[in-house]
Amino acid sequence: MNFPVVGMVGGGQLARMTHEAGIPLGIRFKILSDTPQDSAAQVVADVTVGDYRDLATLRAFAAGCDVITFDHEHVPTEHLRALEADGVVVRPGAEALVHAQDKGVMRARLAAIGVPCPRNRIVADPQDVTRFAEEVGGFPVVLKTVRGGYDGKGVWIVGSAAEAAEPFRAVGPLTPDGRREPIPVLAEEKVDFVRELAANVVRSPHGQAVAYPVVESVQVNGVCDTVIAPAPGLSDELSAGAQGLALTIARELGVIGHLAVELFETADGRVLVNELAMRPHNSGHWTMDGAGTSQFANHLRAVLDLPLGDPRPRAPWTVMANVLGGDFPDMYAAYLHCMARDPGLKIHMYGKDVKPGRKVGHVNTYGDDLAEVRERARHAADYLRGTIDE
Ligand code: ADP
Repeated sequence: MNFPVVGMVGGGQLARMTHEAGIPLGIRFKILSDTPQDSAAQVVADVTVGDYRDLATLRAFAAGCDVITFDHEHVPTEHLRALEADGVVVRPGAEALVHAQDKGVMRARLAAIGVPCPRNRIVADPQDVTRFAEEVGGFPVVLKTVRGGYDGKGVWIVGSAAEAAEPFRAVGPLTPDGRREPIPVLAEEKVDFVRELAANVVRSPHGQAVAYPVVESVQVNGVCDTVIAPAPGLSDELSAGAQGLALTIARELGVIGHLAVELFETADGRVLVNELAMRPHNSGHWTMDGAGTSQFANHLRAVLDLPLGDPRPRAPWTVMANVLGGDFPDMYAAYLHCMARDPGLKIHMYGKDVKPGRKVGHVNTYGDDLAEVRERARHAADYLRGTIDE
């Protein structure tokens, strides 16, 4: 067997679905997983259990791989640089990935390449937050720790300096000499957006890139709930503009693999970049059933420098609804009803224990009528979760 070995750091559902996409191509796939029970560790044959924060563990893992890629952005940047110095092929590379790891670095770089973002700057303390608020027209403002946030954790909307104390308490991991460094805090103007969009693209080392249709991502309590592809009612101009922005960012930052650009659409018809993810992303799960080539398959092709697959949609509308854990643990019992009600339903479960609010799976539906496609996805997600029973 001379097929390449792709090593993915992380054992979550993104690794599980990347593995799934590699099977028909015969790609050999290894993961570095936190535990043997992680979502991908349950299905991948070649699992290393270990700590991605430990350089020796990363080095040993990388030794058996032709290329290293990621299901999360938490590997310390200095470890990525050390692997690259060893000659390991890391995709996306450290220089690109740091923009998905550190929101301060990302904002500075996007400003330098002329990409529209909310007004922002690093703030030193709660008094400085008040000064920032004055610069952008007053409270409320958004505070974010530059590293370590996900699903709305690490993001605060504050209405006064008195509310701004908590973000400054955030500290990083233990340093070798037993200290914890404070994590810098980024302040942003609070954008009065009409909705959130995502522009997803994939880029290969050859410089080939493909753009998926721009999607609408509906968030509930800071967590992605539903994704609609393409974003309903988005003008051709904004759609092409957003795809162009994402392609520019991918090229300028040297991204290899899937890049998700999370965007705010404003009432006056602009798009502003919220954040970047350089890996398969929740806003791209619809592509598993709704696009010619899924984000997972294209991520693999990109990191292997293979020609990229067709990103175009297969149906006028595709809707993805996340299945969150509810109070009802037996999701399998719900399959009977969901499958009988909707033979076109596509279910993707991650093998994770059901805990309230945790993403444990998603469903995709597609068809010609948006209202109907959306209702089918919503019904299935709610029924699996147990919030409806008919
Ligand atoms: P995370 O890293 O947790 O995904 P984000 O930066 O995406 O954090 O922020 C989470 C959510 O907070 C966003 O989806 C959006 O709803 C809201 N948010 C973030 N930044 C702003 C902003 N500048 N203005 C208004 N809302 C924001």
